[in-house]
Amino acid sequence: MLKLLFWLIVALVIGLFFAIRQANRLRAEQQDDDAPQTRSLESVRCAQCGVFVPADEAVRRDGQDFCSWEHAQAWAEAWHKARRREQE
Ligand SMILES: [Zn+2]
Repeated sequence: MLKLLFWLIVALVIGLFFAIRQANRLRAEQQDDDAPQTRSLESVRCAQCGVFVPADEAVRRDGQDFCSWEHAQAWAEAWHKARRREQE
């Protein structure tokens, strides 16, 4: 009888251990889900055309944000052209 009670307690402890682990994993997954949602609410302005784009979709170049690689490229070319004109 005492043996049965012992194994019952062991089973209960193991069950509790897995239940806590599962709860912690679920909580961690929920936090992962929350993070991108709050990030996508942020928006940045394209330095080339002025359009607002979600921060996680924006293209970053030379410390500026852009809506696309094309605009990043166009902005960089215009900036270098302006620099060259200043130096002449
Ligand atoms: Zn743009």
